[in-house]
Amino acid sequence: MSESGEEYLEALWYLRESGDSICRIRDIAQLLDVQPPSAVEMLRKLEKKGLVTYRRQKGIIMTEKGETEAKQIVRAHRLMEVLLNRVVHIDRRDIEEIACSCEHSISSEVATKLCIFLDHPRECPHGNGIPRGECCPEQK
Ligand SMILES: [Zn+2]
Ligand SMILES: [Zn+2]
Repeated sequence: MSESGEEYLEALWYLRESGDSICRIRDIAQLLDVQPPSAVEMLRKLEKKGLVTYRRQKGIIMTEKGETEAKQIVRAHRLMEVLLNRVVHIDRRDIEEIACSCEHSISSEVATKLCIFLDHPRECPHGNGIPRGECCPEQK
C-alpha cells in the first residue's frame, strides 16, 4: 500500500482513539491537512482494496483488514517513539516527526523485535497506548 494510504488508516485509528464515534470526511481531511475532495478520492481507493467502508450515516469505518493494517502502523510508530526517547534519548517533542517518517518501512517482524527489545512497552512517551502484538504477554 502507498504511504499516503497508510497515513489515512493511521488517522482513522487516531480519530477513533480520540473518542469520535462517527468519522466523517471532513474530520480526516482536517487531521491530514488535505482538501476534502482528495480525502474522498483516497478513501475510495481504500474502499476498493477492502480496507474501509463508507456510508453516509455511519461515516468511514475500517474493515477487519483495515484494522490489522492500521494497528501495525500505529504499533511501529509508537515502538519507534519509545526506542528514540528511552534508548537514544531524543527529546519527546522531536520523536513524533522521526517516528512518522520511518513507521512505513518497519515490517511486523521488525516491530516484534523492537517490542521484545523494549520489553513490550504499553505506552508511547506521549502516553498513548501501544497496540499489543503476538509477542506481548497477556495483560493482567
Ligand atoms: Zn506518541
Ligand atoms: Zn510485545
